[in-house]
Amino acid sequence: MNRRQFLYAGAAAAALLGRTRGARAAAYDLIIKGGRIIDSSTGFDAVGDVAIVRGVIAAVATDIQGDASETIDAHGRIVAPGLIDIHTHAGRSKEGPPMCLQDGVTCWIDAGSGGADNVDQVAAVARGAPQMGRILVNIARTGVIAPEGELHDINSANVALAQGAIARNRDVVVGVKARLSNNVAGANDLEALRRAQEAAAPFGLPVMIHVGQNYSPLRSILALLKRGDIVTHMYAPGMNGILDDKGVLIPEVMAARRRGVLFDFGNGVADHFDWDTVEKATRQGLWPDTFSTDWNTQSKTSGVVDLPNVMSKFIMYGMPLSQIIACATVNPARIFASFDDRGTLNIGAPADVAIMELREGSFEFLDNYKGVRTGKQRLFPAGTVLAGKRVAHA
Ligand SMILES: [Zn+2]
Repeated sequence: MNRRQFLYAGAAAAALLGRTRGARAAAYDLIIKGGRIIDSSTGFDAVGDVAIVRGVIAAVATDIQGDASETIDAHGRIVAPGLIDIHTHAGRSKEGPPMCLQDGVTCWIDAGSGGADNVDQVAAVARGAPQMGRILVNIARTGVIAPEGELHDINSANVALAQGAIARNRDVVVGVKARLSNNVAGANDLEALRRAQEAAAPFGLPVMIHVGQNYSPLRSILALLKRGDIVTHMYAPGMNGILDDKGVLIPEVMAARRRGVLFDFGNGVADHFDWDTVEKATRQGLWPDTFSTDWNTQSKTSGVVDLPNVMSKFIMYGMPLSQIIACATVNPARIFASFDDRGTLNIGAPADVAIMELREGSFEFLDNYKGVRTGKQRLFPAGTVLAGKRVAHA
């Protein structure tokens, strides 16, 4: 037992004593037993148990004694903090959030489905979701228009209207989204981003930009980003991406990362990544800060499938499992204040837990151009605990 495990066990014993003095029959409400616990927020990675009392984590230790009202057998499974997906379109319909909850996603962000004209509906879905849902307001008043693109008329990027939408949904809005790819914004990309920053500034909110085949050079776009802003679809191939025409990472990308700009995977279905760009960029040291799916209710039947499948794409490239889990738990939790207490199995934290199975075999993974890579391991969702309660399998 190393020092960290010892500390966890000590806390477990303290929690147990606290419980047995009480009048309740069971010491714990729920114990998740015998899984490989990977909590990237502390570096904890060992086989053990997670005990939950009244919706919060009460103990994490190699063997927790004491009875529980309910036990989940997690032998042979991975037990991680509930997953956080920062780029989804789960807010488009009330069917979305319960679907991604099945995949282990206990916090999601709808990234710009709605703008000033229609974001109130997205906000209502977020408020009604079983798990924590948050939203980014699209700088275009219409929200996403696909495939035509919502920023070809720059007048759609109305700062005052966007600020009004943020103000009336302040409880669930965590940022502003601007889709800047050529098919969405054309030559309006830089001006749309300036307006997104202007809309976000009085609220101190980050801006997430969607890039890919941009009209303007990426260095000009990155120059308009501040610490805490996020670039999604980071591995988008084609013109004005992260690589120059010789396949070399442009220096402005790492410079942006050094000053606190974050890079998100953003799987999606069209034009957002290809294996060649992933391989060239990771060889030059550009790994994602966060994974996200760009999820919608059709994702099960696309190359997305679910967030654990998206995470598995990087197992194939040798990213350590603890780092992969960090990109879907503690890293996104650190970006958005709403998730401060999430992405961790710390004692006292809300008991959101993702149980996954790491299967060995031969698994095909898709990029957005029908490119296939075959990996030897894949994570599958195998259960979700939300606020201390087991989520029923749909
Ligand atoms: Zn999206």
